[in-house]
Amino acid sequence: MKGFCASCKHRAHPGVDCPKCGCCRYKDRKVLREARQRTWIVTAAFFVRNRWIEREVRVKAGGQGGAALKGLTLTKQLALRPLQRVQQVKLTLIPVPQSRKEAQ
Ligand SMILES: [Zn+2]
Ligand SMILES: [Zn+2]
Repeated sequence: MKGFCASCKHRAHPGVDCPKCGCCRYKDRKVLREARQRTWIVTAAFFVRNRWIEREVRVKAGGQGGAALKGLTLTKQLALRPLQRVQQVKLTLIPVPQSRKEAQ
């Protein structure tokens, strides 16, 4: 047996109550973490030299903050040259509904 229960922090006890504390809500941390990761469509618009440059990327992240960070980094790489001065940034985050394939 490997891993730990995310509910009680004791050793993994899949399918049975925890022998140490009787916890019956066993959750595998890894499974939990992967389930929380979802796909986001991040649209970023950079205002550079009086025009908007838009880029759209798909990122996998655990939450809105993570998605924003990843999306911003990625779109910046795609849309901008290094040291290009950005006057304004607009970020749009759209969570993609989890497909059955992803949930498995
Ligand atoms: Zn437990
Ligand atoms: Zn326990």
